[in-house]
Amino acid sequence: MNPADPPVRSSRRVVLAHYGEVGLKRGNRLSFERRLRDRLREGLEHAGLKARVALTQGRYAISLPSDDALPRAMSVVTRIPGVANASAAYVVEPEIEAIQEAAATALAEAPPGSFKVETRRADKSFPLNSIEVSQAVAPACLERSPRAVDVHDPDITVHVSILKDAAYVSAARVPGPGGLPVGSTSRLLSFLSGGIDSAVATWLMMRRGARVTAVHFHNRTHEGTAVLEKLEDVCGVLAWSAGRMPMLVVPFEACQRAIVGLVPAEYRMIVYRRAMLRIADQLGRTERALGIVTGDSLGQVASQTAENIRTIHEAATLPIYAPLVGSDKAEIVALARRIGTFDISIRPHADCCSFLIAKHPATVSNIHEIRQFESAVDWDAVVAEAVAGTEKTVHLPDPDALGA
Ligand code: ATP
Ligand code: MG
Repeated sequence: MNPADPPVRSSRRVVLAHYGEVGLKRGNRLSFERRLRDRLREGLEHAGLKARVALTQGRYAISLPSDDALPRAMSVVTRIPGVANASAAYVVEPEIEAIQEAAATALAEAPPGSFKVETRRADKSFPLNSIEVSQAVAPACLERSPRAVDVHDPDITVHVSILKDAAYVSAARVPGPGGLPVGSTSRLLSFLSGGIDSAVATWLMMRRGARVTAVHFHNRTHEGTAVLEKLEDVCGVLAWSAGRMPMLVVPFEACQRAIVGLVPAEYRMIVYRRAMLRIADQLGRTERALGIVTGDSLGQVASQTAENIRTIHEAATLPIYAPLVGSDKAEIVALARRIGTFDISIRPHADCCSFLIAKHPATVSNIHEIRQFESAVDWDAVVAEAVAGTEKTVHLPDPDALGA
């Protein structure tokens, strides 16, 4: 060895990722574990990282070419549905001295504050039980990094996992989204308006394992193209969950013009939304989607009163998922910030739903009356024209959205 070379490290680090809900699956756990592994591999590849993802005893150990890549890998991994938490962990031989050394190092690198040690043994043949390991590790930590011990509410938890061939030690677990890896359930269409709510609703359904195709209804004359740039950026963020994000842009101006000619201004919003659902039922067939996601939140705006939601949803044959229906706006905003869509969503844009509508849209609607207004529209032609003009693009994860 050249004397100028840095010393060979006695331990190396990996990103250690745990799943939560995947662990509850009994019969098909293996296929969930594999799917999550595939999502992790895909995400790391999109981030330009040459990583090796190994599934060992219910956790993923992700090896990277150098420790410099750890922050970027952590940023990717903690965005992937199915991941409950991840940490940059030291990997050592499953021997108590090596574990003590790694734990002392990990804690010394952690921010100040109280701590405790928590040990899990996947390998029960280890000579010490979990409590004995923690009792042996804590004094070694304190020697290097004197601080208070707090077993009930510590600022830092040093996690020790002992497996058959290795032990993992870390002092900073970062929560992931939880939920299930994308692909665990069938495809849904998600109505993406460019606003705050629909991006969050889309993310929530991806977190439940759904593959999602975004759908935007676009009035070129009214909205211009700024909204499309926003949607591309939103898809670039959301694609970190899924690996890729297809989007359909549906030309909506002809449909809206037909409606404007026949429906009074205060009811147009309702009829626009019903028209979107009619078109989506057709798109669902070609996309093989089994449901429609919207960002509706009960009572938030005129189109979201219980009366109007009933009238609007009545036009769909596919089931509608509105995961924000019971959420408070402040909660939705907090989630939008967390997932990274908020700053994009607040960029100004015109929404097709504001096209020639009344200043005060009706908050109550009568389905018979609405059907009466709609009866003069040639829906087959309107839907066919919109479907024929629909353009599909596929968006990959945006590295600029990683922040690491
Ligand atoms: P968002 O913040 O998502 O825009 P919102 O609270 O502003 O929602 P609305 O504008 O009434 O509510 O729209 C309700 C839902 O209808 C949206 O969350 C979205 O799912 C869907 N939607 C509205 N406009 C469009 C559009 N142009 N294209 C696709 N979906 C739309
Ligand atoms: Mg909106």
